[in-house]
Amino acid sequence: MIIYLLRLFRKHVSVADMSCIVQKFGGTSVADIDCIKMAAKRVVSAYNSGNQMVVVVSAMAGVTNNLIELTEQVNGIFDVREYDVILSSGEQTNAGLMALAIQDLGIQARSWLGWQLPIKTDSKYGRARITEIDISEIKKRIENNEVAVVPGFQGLSKENRITTLGRGGSDLTAVAIAGALNADRCEIYTDVDGIYTCDPRIVSKAKKLDKVTYEEMLELASQGARVLQARSVELAKNHGVRVEVKSAFTDTPGTQVVSEDEILEKEVVSGISYSSDEAKITLRRVKDQPGVAAGIFGPLADASVNVDMIVQNVSEDGKTTDLTFTVTAKDLNHAKEVLSEKKSKIGFDELVSDSNLSKISIVGVGMRSNTGVAKTMFNTLAKKNINIKVISTSEIKISVLIDTEYTELALRALHSAYGLDQ
Ligand code: ASP
Ligand code: MG
Repeated sequence: MIIYLLRLFRKHVSVADMSCIVQKFGGTSVADIDCIKMAAKRVVSAYNSGNQMVVVVSAMAGVTNNLIELTEQVNGIFDVREYDVILSSGEQTNAGLMALAIQDLGIQARSWLGWQLPIKTDSKYGRARITEIDISEIKKRIENNEVAVVPGFQGLSKENRITTLGRGGSDLTAVAIAGALNADRCEIYTDVDGIYTCDPRIVSKAKKLDKVTYEEMLELASQGARVLQARSVELAKNHGVRVEVKSAFTDTPGTQVVSEDEILEKEVVSGISYSSDEAKITLRRVKDQPGVAAGIFGPLADASVNVDMIVQNVSEDGKTTDLTFTVTAKDLNHAKEVLSEKKSKIGFDELVSDSNLSKISIVGVGMRSNTGVAKTMFNTLAKKNINIKVISTSEIKISVLIDTEYTELALRALHSAYGLDQ
């Protein structure tokens, strides 16, 4: 009866008054058939309230990792185009299952694979970028009361082959479709109920943020708050897509990711993030002359070593200087090998490295217009006797590198120092 009334209601909403919503379900929220059925109910409930619905699904949790393992079992050095054919299958399965689950609730639904829309990408298999999306057909269909289900993470290259968009790429699919459809919002359903001021497993007083800006989210996403793929946040920012991160398992409101002008009182510090497993390399007595940094970071980039914080000291004698930078702990040995091989070409005396480090970052758009933010951070850490090894800053972020053993102490102390405990 209720369902019947809701449908009647939907029929009376004109297309012009309907909102268009993209709902994306992450791996844990479509991890098995029960989860998929629960997600389908959520879609249908939004549909019955009079919204046009596009659903984007991830693979079941763990499936993509299993597929990667299978690929590697056949052949260590694989044809990356076939790798994408294999990897995209997890999402493809779930798109079909989701369409069936929605149909089972009495609503018309069909799946649209990346190549069927199509979602065109460049040819960087394994981490392709979206170049163009044709939403004309699904737009017609959703206006005509059908639900469109799109597998995340996949696209089509110029060579007419399947591509994948890099790990976590279903977020990107969802945001890109929401942007192309000019959707009213893009809801990302996951296993946490939003973005917190800090990791709640470490800081029990951490609180959920109602709103966070794209910029803050970008800093938090690339920093270890691994809820949204960073590239998707960038895309959302560029296209003004309203993103909402929510739990698939509760009905509590999530965190909205919005543009800065939507937030009236800008927090000086909105959140604190961290990443452990950092390592630091110092090259001693590097020649102080043009081209040296390029000579160091060029080969590292070619070897796919991601360099994060970089500090170069002022040269004392005008001839040599020390250069320090960080990489992830897992890249440390590789980075050392690359640099040792180029030692004579680069020209440095000694390489010193240090692992078991953590990076702690405080993030907030209000930092732009407030002074004394850094002072509070340094004072707080000093009071706890925590030594800072490297500092780096951006307009809305200050990061410090400390010994990993002090991570929790530092996070709790900073959370309280910036008034986030209240
Ligand atoms: N299944 C893909 C991954 O695990 C894409 C995604 O879930 O966003 O990376
Ligand atoms: Mg994800």
